[in-house]
Amino acid sequence: MKMRIAIAGGGLGGLTLARILRRHGLDAVVYEREASRSARSQGGMLDLHPESGQQALAEAGLTGRFRSEARPEGEEHRILDQAGRTLVHHKPHPGSFSGRPEIDRRALRDLLLDSLPGDAVAWQHRLVAATPRPDGGFGLTFHGGHKTDCDILIGADGARSVVRSLLTDAKLSYVATLVELSISDADRRHPDLAELVGPGNLWCVGVNQILAAQRLGDGGIRVGISLRAEDRDIDTYRSKRALLDLFEGWDSRLTALIEAGDSAPTPRRIEAMPIGTRWANQPGITLIGDAAHLMPPVGEGANQAMLDAAELAGELAANPADPDTAIRTYEEAMFTRTHPIAEMSARVQAMMLSPTAADDITRFFTARTTEPAAAD
Ligand SMILES: Cc1cc2nc3c(=O)[nH]c(=O)nc-3n(C[C@H](O)[C@H](O)[C@H](O)COP(=O)(O)OP(=O)(O)OC[C@H]3O[C@@H](n4cnc5c(N)ncnc54)[C@H](O)[C@@H]3O)c2cc1C
Repeated sequence: MKMRIAIAGGGLGGLTLARILRRHGLDAVVYEREASRSARSQGGMLDLHPESGQQALAEAGLTGRFRSEARPEGEEHRILDQAGRTLVHHKPHPGSFSGRPEIDRRALRDLLLDSLPGDAVAWQHRLVAATPRPDGGFGLTFHGGHKTDCDILIGADGARSVVRSLLTDAKLSYVATLVELSISDADRRHPDLAELVGPGNLWCVGVNQILAAQRLGDGGIRVGISLRAEDRDIDTYRSKRALLDLFEGWDSRLTALIEAGDSAPTPRRIEAMPIGTRWANQPGITLIGDAAHLMPPVGEGANQAMLDAAELAGELAANPADPDTAIRTYEEAMFTRTHPIAEMSARVQAMMLSPTAADDITRFFTARTTEPAAAD
């Protein structure tokens, strides 16, 4: 009998999984809470690593499309101190795909969506409950009351996963505050800022705080301010004035990034799961991506979500008669792979928001960019 596979969540992990399963002749339905692919802005750029995100796209048969959408020049990055002095300036080799080319999240998600038939994604299906059935599989209930059944349930439903609670009671902890602003049409409206940011990423590093900016494929700039987790009400940061006060004494060419924001800043809490979270294997259910291992956002989450998808799809395709063994094998390998990455992400996050961040980050990037072939 055909396995009915349900994937909760149509983010990068869920869509990559659906695509690779389909290439192996296994159908899955992705249940996504958003109303359509354009319901929400997908955020900034991601750099896809050869050994994870790019590997998954290769298994999805999408390397060609990735290369036509990616922006290798987006790998360029500069690190400045709060006086505007350049500490690190990394430029990729022109046109090189050998490193970690950047791609807009929207373009990456569209590329995955375009690779699936229209009925593979059930939009406007927010999973609210999953209940094990006595004869195996799960009953699924969606917001609005719609119900369905599946044999295998894969939680790809992100940071606040509903499926996670069926496997582990791991609690999220608050690790940082991120405040975002966007600047549209930067070349025309703010040529000085466009030049400051360049084609990739800019990090201006202070004491316990970072002002970062990222060039987007549509000509805009996404500004992100990272602050330590603290007790202060997050709504404090909904005003540019409050942010500018935090950056008093910084070079005005840098704080101009805050002043130029198109609208009021959007603050949010950044959370993470306990490092090394595991769960006891259960028949017919597992997690991928942020649902499985939410980490501080230092460049690994999407890459690992996509690699989870590729590895799980590979196991299910290799062992379709015994999906429980396939899931167990996937989980063991995923726990082992992601544990050190979660440790590293927590270390980097702490380093970025420390009093000595400028020196520490400079050392970190100088070491990374001089590694032979690994990153560049
Ligand atoms: C500011 C920031 C910057 C980042 N930068 C990078 C980076 O440079 N590189 C990198 O690799 N990672 C980065 N990450 C991490 C990365 O965004 C995530 O790890 C990645 O998106 C996880 O993919 P996912 O598919 O598991 O979850 P998501 O991308 O969160 O997708 C989950 C999907 O599930 C849907 N959903 C949620 N709940 C339900 C429900 N109940 N029912 C149905 N659907 C549901 C959501 O709408 C969403 O579409 C960053 C994260 C942040 C916050």
